[in-house]
Amino acid sequence: MKVKLLEHTPNPEKLIAAAAKLCYSSSGVDELMENLTPENTERFLNMLMDLGHESPIEHATFTFAIEGISRCCSHQLVRHRIASYSQKSQRYVNETQFEYVTPSVIENLPVAKEMFDELMTRIQCDYEDLRELIKEDLMKKGMDEKAAGKVANEDARFVLPNACTTSIIVTMNIRSLFNFFKHRCCNRAQWEIREVAWEMWKQCVVIAPTIFKHAGPDCVTKNKCPEGKMSCGNQLKMKSKYDFEYYSKEHENDI
Ligand SMILES: Cc1cc2nc3c(=O)[nH]c(=O)nc-3n(C[C@H](O)[C@H](O)[C@H](O)COP(=O)(O)OP(=O)(O)OC[C@H]3O[C@@H](n4cnc5c(N)ncnc54)[C@H](O)[C@@H]3O)c2cc1C
Repeated sequence: MKVKLLEHTPNPEKLIAAAAKLCYSSSGVDELMENLTPENTERFLNMLMDLGHESPIEHATFTFAIEGISRCCSHQLVRHRIASYSQKSQRYVNETQFEYVTPSVIENLPVAKEMFDELMTRIQCDYEDLRELIKEDLMKKGMDEKAAGKVANEDARFVLPNACTTSIIVTMNIRSLFNFFKHRCCNRAQWEIREVAWEMWKQCVVIAPTIFKHAGPDCVTKNKCPEGKMSCGNQLKMKSKYDFEYYSKEHENDI
C-alpha cells in the first residue's frame, strides 16, 4: 500500500487558532492573524483541544492518495461520510490482470496461499472470459465497441474479489480525521485500514503537531479504552507507537 499526503490547508494551525479566537475576540481578523505567534498559537490550540472545542478544526483539510489497498479496505474507508472521495472506477477501467492484497495470515500459510493465488488467477481468467462474452454479444446486437466494452466492464466486475486493489483520493477536514483516527487507529479496527490510518496519522503529525498530538485511539488520547471486554489490553504499546514527538520531529523530512 502507498499512502501519500497530496495537499493540505496551508498553515492549518494558524488558521484554526484564528478561527477559534474570532469567536471570543472583538479584534478584526487581520489583527488576530498578526498577533498569532507560533508560541501563542500552540498555547491557544492546546487549550482549545483540552476544552474539546472541535468545530474550528473543521476549517483545515488534508488530502491523501491511497493506492494498493483492497476493496475490503476502501469499503471501510468510505463509510466515513464526512469526507470527499474519488476512487478508481471498475466500470471505466477494466480489471484484466488485476492486482490483489493477500492478508499476512494467508501469505504465511503455504497451503492457504496456494489456494488463494489459484483462486485469484481463476477469477482473473473468468472475469476476462465473461467480459469478452458480454462484449461480443452486445456488439452482435448492434452496440458499438466502446459502449459494449463499458457494459462488459461494469457487469463482469460482479465476479471480482474484495482482495482486488484499488486507488482512492480522500479529503477530510481535521475534525473528521480525528474521528477516523479514533476508530481506525484502534487495534479493534481491521489490520489494513489500521495501517492506512497509521500512515495518515504520521503524515498529519508532521504538518500540524500541536493539533494531531490530540488525535489517535482513545487509549492514547483519552488514556482509557472504550472497548470494555473487547479491549486489546495493549495501551502501553499503543502509547509508545503513537509517539507524536518522535514522528513530528524525527520524520519531518520524510514528507
Ligand atoms: C472496529 C469497527 C468495527 C465496525 N464494524 C461495523 C459493522 O460490523 N457493520 C457496519 O455497518 N459498520 C461497522 N463499522 C463502521 C462504523 O459503524 C462507522 O460506519 C464508521 O466507523 C464511520 O464512522 P462515523 O459514522 O463516525 O464517521 P462519519 O460518517 O465520517 O461521521 C462522523 C460523525 O458525524 C456524525 N454523523 C455523520 N452522519 C450522521 C447522521 N446521518 N446522523 C447523525 N450523525 C451523523 C456522527 O457523529 C459521526 O460520528 C465498524 C467500525 C469500526 C471502527
